[in-house]
Amino acid sequence: MKVLFDHALREGAGGLFPSSDVPARTPSDVLGSDLVRARAPRIPNLCEGDVARHYTALSKLNYGVDDGIYPLGSCTMKYNPKLNEDVTRLPGFVGAHPRADEALSQGTLGLLYELSGLLRGISGMAAVTLQPVAGAHGELTGMFLFKRYFEERGEPGRTRVLLPDSAHGTNPASAAMAGFSVTEIRSNDRGTVDLDALRAELDSTVAGIMLTVPNTLGIFEENILEVTRAVHDAGGLCYFDGANLNSFIGRARPGDMGADVFHFNLHKTLSTPHGGGGPGAGAVAVSQPLVDYLPVPWIEKMGETIRLDWDHPKSIGSVHSFYGNFLVAVRAYAYLLQLGDAGLRAVSENAVLNANYLQERLKKTYPLPYDRLCKHEFVLSGEGLPNHISTLDIAKRLIDYGVHPPTIYFPLIVHEALMIEPTETEGRESLDRFAEILEAIAVEARERPELLHDAPTRAPVRRLDQTQAARNPILTYPFDKS
Ligand SMILES: *Cc1c(COP(=O)(O)O)cnc(C)c1O
Repeated sequence: MKVLFDHALREGAGGLFPSSDVPARTPSDVLGSDLVRARAPRIPNLCEGDVARHYTALSKLNYGVDDGIYPLGSCTMKYNPKLNEDVTRLPGFVGAHPRADEALSQGTLGLLYELSGLLRGISGMAAVTLQPVAGAHGELTGMFLFKRYFEERGEPGRTRVLLPDSAHGTNPASAAMAGFSVTEIRSNDRGTVDLDALRAELDSTVAGIMLTVPNTLGIFEENILEVTRAVHDAGGLCYFDGANLNSFIGRARPGDMGADVFHFNLHKTLSTPHGGGGPGAGAVAVSQPLVDYLPVPWIEKMGETIRLDWDHPKSIGSVHSFYGNFLVAVRAYAYLLQLGDAGLRAVSENAVLNANYLQERLKKTYPLPYDRLCKHEFVLSGEGLPNHISTLDIAKRLIDYGVHPPTIYFPLIVHEALMIEPTETEGRESLDRFAEILEAIAVEARERPELLHDAPTRAPVRRLDQTQAARNPILTYPFDKS
C-alpha cells in the first residue's frame, strides 16, 4: 500500500486510475471552446488517508441526536431508529434505478403504493402523493392545487390566502411563491385563531387558509371545526401544515377536521435524519375535490401490478423528477411497520407528555406567555432576565453545557422566544438534565452574567458575526484564488 500511496503522491493525483481505452476527446470537443476554462481549477490534491482524517475531524465537531437531546422547536429532532438505515441499505432499494422497467420495479413501486395507503389512513383523506421532497415543497404543491381548483371552477378572483400570525414561516413563503397574496390573521390571547378576525376577512377573494396544526406555540386550535367550516362556507379551502403530526398521530385525523390539503414531513414525524436540510419528503394528502389535480405520475394498482400512471390531464404536472426521495419513503414505511397502531398512539402520547413535563417545570424559572396545556412543544420567553441577558446568551450558554439549544426568536409573537420540542424519544433522565441546565443558567444570569455573555467558550468556534454570515456567506472553496 505504501508503494501505491507514494506513487499516487508522486503523480499528484490523489488516486490511481488504469490508462484509458476510450479515444481521447478534449473538453472543447465535448463542450465547445466557449465553455472550457482557460486555467485548471485549484482543487486540493490529497491522499486518501488525509481525506479520511479531514472528514473524521469534521464529524467530531458536529452535534446530532445520537449525541444528546436536540430540543429544536418545530424541527422534531427525535431519535431515528438504526433499523431504518439497515433497511434502506438493502441492495434492492439502494440500487433501484428510476428508469428501470416497471415490471422489474414491483417491489419499490409496491412500497410506495402501500405507504400512500397507510398515509391515507393516518390522515383520513382521499388520496396521497409522495412526490414533494420537503415540507415546504409540500406546501408549494398544495398551493398549486388550490390554484388549479379555482381555475377549474372559474374563480380566478380568489387570490388571497389567510395565515394566522402563529403559522410556520414557510407557509406565507409558499403561498406567495405560488402567486397568492397573504393576509395575516391575529391570534387571540389563548394563542389560537381569533374567529372574529378570521370572519372579517372571509370574502370571495379568499382562496383559503393555511393552518399549522398544532400551531408554532404548540397549541391545538380548539375551534378547528369552526375555523374550517367558516372558510368552506365562504367558498375557500383549508391547508393544514402537518409537520407537527407527532403530537396527534394515531389519535385524530386532519380529514375529520376539514382539511383539504395536509402535508406530512415524513423526515420528521416518521424518522429520517434531517439535520442540515435534507433529504426529506413532504407527502401531500388531499380531500376528494382536489384528487384529480395531484402531481403525475400516480401510483396505481391494476390487478396485481403496480403502475406509474401519467394519464391525468387535470394534474398540476410533476413537482419533482421521478418519485421524490425514495429512501426517505423506505424509512417512513419501515417506521410505520415497526410501530403499528399502538406504537403510533404511544408516539403522540409521549410527545405531549414530555413537552408538558418540561413546560410545567421550566415555567417556574422562565416566563411562559401562553400558559396552558401544550401539545408537542412550548414557547418560553428569555425576557426579564437581569444583566442584559438575552435569549441568544442563554442559547449560547447551553452549548457550553454540551446541549443543543432550542429554536430561538421564533415564533415572532413571543418576545425573546425559546421554542422547545423535547420529542417523544427523550427519557425522563434526559428531560431532567436539560431542565437542570436551564435552571443553572438562570442562576448564572443573575450571579455570573459574564459566563453567558462570553458563551460559547467550549465550542469549536466562539460567537459568530451573524450579520456578516447572513449578508456575505462564503459558500465555495476558493478554487480560483492563486
Ligand atoms: C419543518 C417545518 C416546515 C418545513 O418543512 P421542511 O421539510 O423543512 O421544508 C413547515 N412547517 C412546520 C411547522 C415545520 O416544523
